[in-house]
Amino acid sequence: VVRLVDVVKVFRMGQQEVRALKGINLAIRSGEYLSIMGPSGSGKSTLFNMIGALDKPTSGRVFIDEVDVSQLDAYELAWLRCRKIGYIFQTFNLIQVMTAMENVTLPMIFAGMSRDEYVEKGMELLQLVGLAERYQHKPPELSGGQQQRVAIARALANDPAIILADEPTGNLDLATGEEIIGLLKRLSAERGVTIISATHDIKMLNVSDRVVWIRDGMVDRIEDREELKITVGEVG
Ligand code: ATP
Ligand code: MG
Repeated sequence: VVRLVDVVKVFRMGQQEVRALKGINLAIRSGEYLSIMGPSGSGKSTLFNMIGALDKPTSGRVFIDEVDVSQLDAYELAWLRCRKIGYIFQTFNLIQVMTAMENVTLPMIFAGMSRDEYVEKGMELLQLVGLAERYQHKPPELSGGQQQRVAIARALANDPAIILADEPTGNLDLATGEEIIGLLKRLSAERGVTIISATHDIKMLNVSDRVVWIRDGMVDRIEDREELKITVGEVG
């Protein structure tokens, strides 16, 4: 569903240059659960922005469903970002002045859903992440983990074909983290949703179909399920 060809990303600040991605080639398969692992600063979030068509590569191409995203106009990009991909950001990116319910239903309102539909679905999704009773609360009134869960509910709003998650369990306790991993795994196994997740969470390895190890802006290696069992064994 997503293909990256020789993707390079260089950040320039005055004289200084950071080569965050140094030529990434990656083909992500439809319906797979792919984890991106690597040390802090290795380029995971930058790669996340490339895969999700949120930022432009300095050179190279990104294809989503075989469409070169650099060829899309602003409206097509907006459609892609609202309907096709659900994003879970490392820093949540919730709208601070809106309640949990409003944050979750906003993408549905953009998608033209009727009030009855989005109210029902909004509650359903908040229930799914265990936050139904906090639907009227705004992000500053919620804990980090709770905000994370609102962000996950929002990502699921329009039944995206692809879920892109940057450290989705980073702010959650062990039990909640496992629940979220289980939820993502079910989405991929039962509904064929493609899950792409940057993570440090070793538990993710158990559910991943493949893991891409990133080091210093490059793909170090890619392992599939069988190889993973050998490398890490079954983790708790
Ligand atoms: P972490 O695990 O800490 O989230 P990461 O693997 O997600 O790290 P990135 O955020 O992708 O790492 O950053 C990769 C490199 O690019 C880092 O050296 C970072 O400082 C640099 N970088 C990222 N975004 C920018 C930016 N907007 N301007 C300048 N440099 C940037
Ligand atoms: Mg990051």
